[in-house]
Amino acid sequence: LNVNDYLKSHMRTVPDWPAPGVQFRDITPLLQDPRVFRVLIDAFVHRYMDPALRPDVVAGLDARGFILGSVIAYELGLGFVPIRKKGKLPFTTVEETYELEYGSATVELHTDAVKPGQRVLLIDDLIATGGTMMAGKKLLEKLGATVMEGAAIVDLPELGGSDKLRQGGLQLFTLVAFE
Ligand code: IMP
Repeated sequence: LNVNDYLKSHMRTVPDWPAPGVQFRDITPLLQDPRVFRVLIDAFVHRYMDPALRPDVVAGLDARGFILGSVIAYELGLGFVPIRKKGKLPFTTVEETYELEYGSATVELHTDAVKPGQRVLLIDDLIATGGTMMAGKKLLEKLGATVMEGAAIVDLPELGGSDKLRQGGLQLFTLVAFE
């Protein structure tokens, strides 16, 4: 089993959650098993240890991007910054609103989280429509930073989000795909 298949084999799919007809891809079993957790984190760490791909800072998307991003940043010897759902960050922020299937969502980032010119690795658990990762990219760019790559455990390519993000100029790295 290669790393990607090993990780995929430990994913859990929950039918009809959070709504009827949705197949929720649950990454929590990957975190729960210490061996799988290490394989998962190392898959990212080994990639970004490469001097050509080393970021200056790691940003994580609320909330599962925090779990992954902080550990990856720590292992790489880098700092971590959280991109949070609106209303959670105490200092001055920039914000970005994006469309969901029903309604909209707003995410925020502290204005001093990154410096102009910094190369940021942007992390979440899963890419569906790509809206969340695109909003994170825009926030980081508002502060003058560059997103060197977006990374996630799971891509749902049929939803078109990863294609849209790549067309928008974002390089992506994902480990598992579900049709
Ligand atoms: P997007 O903005 O449509 O790409 O949705 C991605 C965001 O929604 C990420 O922050 C995910 O954590 C969450 N999400 C959407 N669908 C799933 C799923 O099936 N499993 C886990 N998270 C999901």
